[in-house]
Order: sequence, then C-alpha cells, then structure tokens
Amino acid sequence: MANGNVKAGFEGAVKTPEGLSYKGVILQPVIDKCEGCARMMAFEDQNYCPSYPQPARKWALGVCNFATHAKVQVETQGKGKVNPLKASKRAAKGR
Ligand code: SF4
Repeated sequence: MANGNVKAGFEGAVKTPEGLSYKGVILQPVIDKCEGCARMMAFEDQNYCPSYPQPARKWALGVCNFATHAKVQVETQGKGKVNPLKASKRAAKGR
C-alpha cells in the first residue's frame, strides 16, 4: 500500500511476524480508510501509522480522531446547551 506521497520513516524499525516493531511497540499496517491521511508513514512496502499502532481497531470505533483527511461529525444544529435545571424550572412554570 506504500505510495510516493507518503513520507518514509521508522528509523531502526524491524519487521516481525506480529507487525512492525518500532521503539518497543508493534505497529499494524494502515487500512483502506487511512488512505489520504498525512500521518501515514512508509516502511519498505507497507504504510504504518505513527499515531496509532492498530489502525483497524481505531476505525472499528468510528472515524479515527487522529485522521487528517476525515473529521468526526459534530452535531452543530440546535440552540446549543440547555441547562437542565433551568429547563425543569421552565417546564414547572408551564413555559
Ligand atoms: S491517524 Fe488514523 S487515519 Fe491516519 S493513518 Fe493513523 S489510524 Fe489511519
């Protein structure tokens, strides 16, 4: 999955059967959803993420919060926060 736009890195890393061993951490290769992320770095013929060692697990929980190419959708609709105490007083007064 390595391509010319991804910077090389991981000096001193070693490929092991479990993954890429780098500074005492085992890194798994990036997944399809990481394509376009500026954090990816190449080592030999594979891309890895220096921010998260197991990209597949990161994406399994939703959009990766470290991603530079995708943003977590934040609910921006509505009037903002409602103070629950004030809301209950308002409801009690019938407003
Ligand atoms: S930061 Fe997230 S999206 Fe980017 S390469 Fe790492 S795991 Fe993939």
